[in-house]
Amino acid sequence: MRIHKTEGIVLAAQAHGEADRLLRVFTRDMGKRSFVLKGIRKSRRRPQGAADPGTRLLLTFYEHDNRATHIVTELRIAAHCADIRDSMERICHLALMLETVDGTSGFDDPNPTVFEMISAAVAALAATDSPVVLSLFFLLHLLRIHGVLPPMGACARCGKPYADFAFGDADLRPVCAACARRDRPPPTLFPASARELLSTLLSTRFSAINTAALPVDTALDLLFRAVLFIEGYYHIEIKSKKLLFSLHRNDDA
Ligand SMILES: [Zn+2]
Repeated sequence: MRIHKTEGIVLAAQAHGEADRLLRVFTRDMGKRSFVLKGIRKSRRRPQGAADPGTRLLLTFYEHDNRATHIVTELRIAAHCADIRDSMERICHLALMLETVDGTSGFDDPNPTVFEMISAAVAALAATDSPVVLSLFFLLHLLRIHGVLPPMGACARCGKPYADFAFGDADLRPVCAACARRDRPPPTLFPASARELLSTLLSTRFSAINTAALPVDTALDLLFRAVLFIEGYYHIEIKSKKLLFSLHRNDDA
């Protein structure tokens, strides 16, 4: 048994026995891991909010060689996303991003880039005026880091540049309008502005993007498509999508 320290973002938490909590945390050094917080539901010494999804923790824990969960001995909150919790829309986007990282990452598979990206996204979520664009940005870059984002620069079938386009069945490979029209039934096309949006999101830092100038409806359609792709590719269900998309549809109504 060895003692380790690391930093991590809480992905999910659940009750564990009478007084403990079981946390899934994406750590900087070890990737996704399960930790037990002893007595957190009763103890006053544990900081409030330590088990809230999205919280960034500094953890000291016992590493057990043959166990899947590790026991936390000390913890400090490095950042708590209290600002996000006032808005249902932001809570839904936080849940979407955390759930996607959780569902697309294996245990003990370190990826510091993913850790940095989640930390930055949680911080950006509190401040951005466009959580939809942030979530889309996040999912696209996560897919790219995982190596499953197809090239977006040309039609996947004819290899030509495109304006209007559709996505192929169950994937995110762009198909130009001319090729897509041959499919039966012909798929719904995304406008050329969607291609520009994708190219902006994939080539620019989030903080440098003028989100107010981007078409939110198009971003929402693309986000929905990206979530469906992730569910199919990883064989997971993104539970937060239902509430998130019903929330945004009600906005439009
Ligand atoms: Zn084509």
